[in-house]
Amino acid sequence: MKLYYDFHIHSCLSPCGDNDMTPHDLVQMAAILGLNAIALTDHNTCANCPAAAEVAAELGLVFLPGMELCTAEEAHIVCLFPSVEQALAFDAYIESTLPPVKNRPDIFGEQILCNAQDEQIGVKPNLLATASSVSVDDVVELVRSYGGAAFPAHIDRPSYSVTAALGDVPPVGFTAVEITARGDIDALKARHREIADKPLLLSSDAHCLENINEACAYLELDDPSPTAIIEALNGLRPCTWSRG
Ligand SMILES: [Zn+2]
Ligand SMILES: [Zn+2]
Repeated sequence: MKLYYDFHIHSCLSPCGDNDMTPHDLVQMAAILGLNAIALTDHNTCANCPAAAEVAAELGLVFLPGMELCTAEEAHIVCLFPSVEQALAFDAYIESTLPPVKNRPDIFGEQILCNAQDEQIGVKPNLLATASSVSVDDVVELVRSYGGAAFPAHIDRPSYSVTAALGDVPPVGFTAVEITARGDIDALKARHREIADKPLLLSSDAHCLENINEACAYLELDDPSPTAIIEALNGLRPCTWSRG
């Protein structure tokens, strides 16, 4: 089965995310754009995933709850899970690894929690745009211990990527990597031989509704369930990742 995907999207809970990026509206937009499978990946939190999962279920989209973790090295890692329960268990652990710095909405932006009906139900008081104490060396095993899959975000970007922080994709067990939707796959593979044999995911890293992927990248998998997609990301199930 062919699934058009975008596995890196922020909501209004990320301080840098548009306030229009409510879970309700971003899932609706993904459906309008013709996507079949999406993930919500706010900075260091999964707290808007329950609402997004509810909307995705209503619209028949495959939904992976997730987070964009900022490691101690300030490298961004996309962490995806097969269920909201597993994502929230991981979220609770990550919260304990973040510095207790209060958000300043006037400087960093609001961090808005929503329900599936598009209503604001609260805010996150502590700043989410900080670095966790989790090292990139431990992230793959840590995320797998919660049933998920982890891969480095936007490795072709000069900031907050493993390549920017560490010079290359470190040999710590990653079985996939993400590049930006306009990334040059051939140039990247030539520069970073360590990713030559890994699936390259094209996701948007959208912080506003206009930037969510159109149907420009797809995966082909025998089973379209979240569990099967996590297995594919962990290299445990055959899957092809293509553009088009
Ligand atoms: Zn990032
Ligand atoms: Zn991001």
